[in-house]
Amino acid sequence: MKTISPQVDPRRVRALNSVPDRTGPVMYWMSRDQRARHNWALLHACQKANELGQPLEVVFTLAPNFLDAPFRHYDFMFRGLQETESALRALGIPMNVLSGEPGTLLPAYATERRAGAIITDFSPLKLTRSWKTAIAERLECPLYEVDAHNIVPCWLASTKQEFAARTIRPKLHALQETFLTPFPDPEAHYQPSSLISPTVDWSMIADGIRANRSIGPSDALPPGEKAAANRLRQFIARSLQEYAEKRNDPNSGCVSQLSAYLHFGQISAQHVALSVMQSGSSVADRDAFIEELFVRRELSDNFCFYNPDYDTFNGIPAWAKATLADHAEDRRDYRYSLEDFEAGRTHDPLWNAAQKSLVGTGLMHGYLRMYWAKKILEWSASPVTAFETAVLLNDRYALDGRDPNGYTGIAWSVGGLHDRPWFERPVYGKIRYMNASGCARKFDVQRYIREIGRQDTLFPDT
Ligand SMILES: Cc1cc2nc3c(=O)[nH]c(=O)nc-3n(C[C@H](O)[C@H](O)[C@H](O)COP(=O)(O)OP(=O)(O)OC[C@H]3O[C@@H](n4cnc5c(N)ncnc54)[C@H](O)[C@@H]3O)c2cc1C
Repeated sequence: MKTISPQVDPRRVRALNSVPDRTGPVMYWMSRDQRARHNWALLHACQKANELGQPLEVVFTLAPNFLDAPFRHYDFMFRGLQETESALRALGIPMNVLSGEPGTLLPAYATERRAGAIITDFSPLKLTRSWKTAIAERLECPLYEVDAHNIVPCWLASTKQEFAARTIRPKLHALQETFLTPFPDPEAHYQPSSLISPTVDWSMIADGIRANRSIGPSDALPPGEKAAANRLRQFIARSLQEYAEKRNDPNSGCVSQLSAYLHFGQISAQHVALSVMQSGSSVADRDAFIEELFVRRELSDNFCFYNPDYDTFNGIPAWAKATLADHAEDRRDYRYSLEDFEAGRTHDPLWNAAQKSLVGTGLMHGYLRMYWAKKILEWSASPVTAFETAVLLNDRYALDGRDPNGYTGIAWSVGGLHDRPWFERPVYGKIRYMNASGCARKFDVQRYIREIGRQDTLFPDT
């Protein structure tokens, strides 16, 4: 195990404009990594504030409409941010929320406050990247980006779109030794601020948001840093020891359910990895989990970072486009509209149960997510429509939606991304096939359908 370095590894940080540091308060524009602990971007901002002898504040920008996120997602985020705000204040770091378009709002705020430097966290998604480009050009102070989400900074892990897990795995593992280090405490690195700002009125902010309120809060997972830490503790204590064997059984309850917390940055993947590696679980269980959390998750960021078409059919490999085009005219035994899929009105009770779980709770087991998306391909009018339907439903209902993992998972299921050609068959062409009898060999399908059937939050609007 490495010793704790007081410095954030400079390779984790990159300048997004060429303006030099200047005297003035330092701001951490918090976006993807919404937490006070185990956060390299916050730690770098603390470091910068100390270096410049300036106070630090955290700023969160709230866009009027973030990729059509429904109220379910805002609720999870606001309740998490409220806790983060308190944790930051306990460190002497004030937090401010600015409502509006970040591209214009943040530069205006930075000018008004005479900011000395702005630090932000990293996301490979297009919308956030376009904001950063606009902000970097408009700022009179430097803008630094810190990859606080990945264990190995995305731009360093690979300089190109990787072909598959097997091509990125050795690169990530080679850099793991230097990057998978324990976190220093922010207390040890920051002299509390003299900046004062009133506490944030979260209920007023929640009232003002323009989001689809028919998709209301989910009570499946409590949000926030403490809840995320509890979930991790429970997972390590109760489920990790069966992860290698039973992770594909939705009835076993042995997956971590950390993805929503990871998506909103309420827990750090690096902290999760360190905790799992230090646990007393078997090497097989630890390795199976680290493969998902580290290799597969960082492969998703790699795909979205290097492929601007990550959220459309256009982003899938050429061989997959060709084979799906060859089968575009194949007869579909069943064909459903977006409305049918959304309401869980297919002939398949397993598919309907998985959809019901997604709509009612915002959660769907990872194994069923693959089945769910592949059946959308099989029962849609075209692969392009299937891709759109899967993205729309996943982003609309899943608590962890709008994430590189989601776009990559859909491109894998529908479009053979990071996979290889399989035996040719109708509709799918050479895309890997899945069917209900395959599911029945993995788990007790009837039990899953029965248990989901007991939840009464089915399709609130239908
Ligand atoms: C069609 C489809 C849609 C998906 N949509 C999303 C999504 O919107 N958001 C999302 O975070 N994940 C998505 N995934 C990936 C994966 O299914 C989820 O990350 C996982 O089910 C989350 O449950 P968990 O936290 O209990 O996972 P665990 O099995 O406990 O895994 C731990 C962590 O590893 C990562 N991970 C696990 N499986 C994968 C994977 N296949 N690819 C990349 N990272 C992975 C996640 O961060 C996860 O939280 C999707 C997969 C498919 C096939």
